[in-house]
Amino acid sequence: MTGANFLLEADGKKILVDCGLTQGVKVADDINWDPFPYDSKEIDILFVTHAHVDHLGRVPKLINEGFRGKIYSTEPTHALALPMLEDTAGILSQNTELHLNKIYTPENIKLALSLWQGFKYHETIKITPDLEVSFLDAGHILGSAMVLFIYNGKKILFTGDLGNSPSPLLPDTEKVSNIDYLIMESVYGDRNHESREDRRRFLEETIEDNYKRKGTLIIPTFSLERSQELLFELDNLVENDRIPIMPIFLDSPLAIRLTEVFKQFKSYFNANAQKVMTHEKYLFDFPGLHSTLKSEESRMIGMVPNPKIVIAGSGMSTGGRIVHHERHYLPDPNNTLLLTGYQAVGSPGRLIQEGVKTVRITGEDVIVRAHIVTITGYSGHKDSDGLLAFVEDTQDTLKKVFVVMGEPKSSMFLVQKLRDNLGLEAFAPEQGSSVTLLC
Ligand SMILES: [Zn+2]
Repeated sequence: MTGANFLLEADGKKILVDCGLTQGVKVADDINWDPFPYDSKEIDILFVTHAHVDHLGRVPKLINEGFRGKIYSTEPTHALALPMLEDTAGILSQNTELHLNKIYTPENIKLALSLWQGFKYHETIKITPDLEVSFLDAGHILGSAMVLFIYNGKKILFTGDLGNSPSPLLPDTEKVSNIDYLIMESVYGDRNHESREDRRRFLEETIEDNYKRKGTLIIPTFSLERSQELLFELDNLVENDRIPIMPIFLDSPLAIRLTEVFKQFKSYFNANAQKVMTHEKYLFDFPGLHSTLKSEESRMIGMVPNPKIVIAGSGMSTGGRIVHHERHYLPDPNNTLLLTGYQAVGSPGRLIQEGVKTVRITGEDVIVRAHIVTITGYSGHKDSDGLLAFVEDTQDTLKKVFVVMGEPKSSMFLVQKLRDNLGLEAFAPEQGSSVTLLC
């Protein structure tokens, strides 16, 4: 995923939207560490749309290059930022080639947090007499926001990532209207997800099939949001006797830590999730669930008899504890690998999804004989039709749409669709390009 990073200049202010890290095939991809195309010291404010690493992962680099402005986000994003940055530091500091331990220092992370302020959705942030900003609910992950700039009465909206509403946990993406300029994501610009109504049934069937085969079901997940959504769904299935009770391991220190943050922001969940949670004594906890924080505990999972379920990071099998489980469980046809998230081109997760018989996982060739199941209904991103419907709500006032943050074919497909279906002026700007909006 390309690291989001946009620069907006108005009334002499230099404002960034997001400062993300490009992720996927190689986490410490060299392009992340090239100099920013602007002077970090001159930036006044950084707005962070949400706590995914491809939106905030280069904040320590920005600090390292002298940024001392303000960082604004929603309150949950503020709370999620520390565990996300510390986890990224843990991964990147292993890279000695680029000396990332000198950039991703605890001091730089601490300094970033000291400049950081959390806001509620719709709270007005006055930047200059003619420029005000607010966060709107993007429904993508906890605290995720679109950033709305109102400059001289004209509205410019950065979508960040847009949620695949309805989400099990979050309210739907807010509808927007009267927008003049839209900068929108396009991760699934060229594809539609399967029906969301079926996703819980598919999950249930996958668990039952694996149970009957007495296998291990391994689920590589993103630690932020997907893990908590899966826990919420599994909780529902267990509590309603839809699946048999069996050991379920949340084998991700980061997901365990982030789940604690989720518990602090119950008011940000949707009405149904809030209702379910008021009846339960423990949030994200149910019979059979084990959170394995320590690596010794993680190693013990292999000794627990089947059937069982293991949820671990990373979501694209590029690292983290999931790779140990994949090496162990993928060669056995009784086991199942369930993919629920976006798999970047070239990542081991994508290759497995595409049906390779052998996959190289962190330097080791692993034979794939396990059942491979993909459920896209849990995707955190709007699909192609969802993105179009989102734009339709404000198509009458739109002057231009800039389609960003997707693989080129995905962005181009969405650009064409916006032109053909809605008659809009849509573009997919190249990285590093700039435009002047006459507000
Ligand atoms: Zn995201």
